[in-house]
Amino acid sequence: MTVNLGVIGTGAIGTDHIRRCHLALSGARVVAVNDINAEQARKAVAGLGIDAEVYANAQDLIDAENVHAILVTSWGPSHEELVLAAIAAGKPVFCEKPLAVTAAGCLRIVEAEQAHGKRLVQVGYMREYDQGYLALKAVIDSGQIGEPLMLHCAHRNPTVPQAYGTSMAITDTLIHELDVLRWLLDDDFVSAQVIFPRTTRHTHSQLRDPQIVLLETVKGVRIDVEVFVNCRYGYDIQCQVVGEEGIASLPEPSSVQLRSGAKLSTEILMDWKDRFIQAYDVELQAFIGSVSSGQIGGPSAWNGYAAAVAADACMQAQESGEIVPIKMPERPAFYA
Ligand code: NAP
Repeated sequence: MTVNLGVIGTGAIGTDHIRRCHLALSGARVVAVNDINAEQARKAVAGLGIDAEVYANAQDLIDAENVHAILVTSWGPSHEELVLAAIAAGKPVFCEKPLAVTAAGCLRIVEAEQAHGKRLVQVGYMREYDQGYLALKAVIDSGQIGEPLMLHCAHRNPTVPQAYGTSMAITDTLIHELDVLRWLLDDDFVSAQVIFPRTTRHTHSQLRDPQIVLLETVKGVRIDVEVFVNCRYGYDIQCQVVGEEGIASLPEPSSVQLRSGAKLSTEILMDWKDRFIQAYDVELQAFIGSVSSGQIGGPSAWNGYAAAVAADACMQAQESGEIVPIKMPERPAFYA
C-alpha cells in the first residue's frame, strides 16, 4: 500500500519532510499540502517537482478522501487544533514537536486519542531514532557504567531568529532533552530550576542566552542542560552520563579528521537538518510503516504531554528563579 500524505506547514522542516518522503523513503507520497501562506505551499511542491494538490484550508486537507495520514509541520501554536482535527477524522497524524505549546493542550490530545480508542499520534521526537542516542541507551541499559548518577548536557545553536524569545529556549529547544532524557533513563522528572549565567553580547533584548536548566528525576539523577542558542560556532548536541562505574558520552557525528596547516581538526555541523538527518529519515519511515500496518508506534501523545508538563515547570522556573516541582500524572494503561 502506498500511503498518501497530506502535509500542513511547508516551511523549513515541512519542505524537508516532503523531500525525504519522495526521495529518501519508500511506501508514501505527498498528495496534498497546505500552508497559511498558499504561495509558500505551491513553491514547496513545485520546487521538488511534486504534483500535490494545494489546499487553502487545513481542515479540507484533513478531510480529503485520498489523504490517508497527516504530517503537521506548521508552527507550534497551531499543532493542537490540527492534531485534534486529524483525530476527529480518524486519521493517523505525525506531529512535529511540540505536540502542543502547553501541557493542557497536550492533555486534550491525549484525551481525544483515548476516546478514539486506538493510537493515531506519533510525535516528532527524532532523537529516539538517532544512532548515537540509541548506542548511548544500549550502554546505559547494559549496566556497563552502573546506575546513572549525573548527566551533563548541552544544546547549542549557532544563532536563532529575532523572534526567538527566552521561553522558546524551553518550548522549542530544551523540549528535545525533556523527551529524550526520560527515554534514555527510563525515568521521570520531579523538579526544575533555571539559572542565567552572564548573557552573551550576541543575543537581543527579548532573549536571555545562555541558560542552564537543572533537573532532578524520580530516581535522584541530577541533570544539567546548557541551552546556548547564539554560540556562533556550530549546532552542537552533547550528553554525558556519569554512572557509578564509568562515564558514557553521546558519540560525535562522524567527520573526516584533517591534518593540515599545522592543525588537527574535525568539522562541526552548523545545521540541525544535517545533524539528525538519518534520525528524521528513520522516524518518518517508521510512521509510514505503522500507517500501513494500522499500528501507530514511536513517541506517543503521552510522551508529548510528559515533555510539556516538564516544559511548563521550566518556564515557571525561568520566571521565579526557584526550584519548581514537576508533578507527572500516572501514565494510563492505553500508553503502556
Ligand atoms: P517554519 O520554517 O516557520 O515553517 C512553518 C510553516 O508553517 C510556515 O510556512 C508557516 O507560515 C506555516 N504555518 C503557520 N501556521 C500555520 C497554520 N495554522 N496552518 C498552516 N500553516 C501554518 O518553521 P519550521 O522550522 O519548519 O518549524 C515547524 C515546526 O517544526 C515547529 O513546531 C518546530 O518546532 C518544529 N521543528 C522540529 C525540528 C526537529 O528537530 N524535530 C526541527 C525544526 C523544526 P508563516 O511563515 O506564513 O507563518
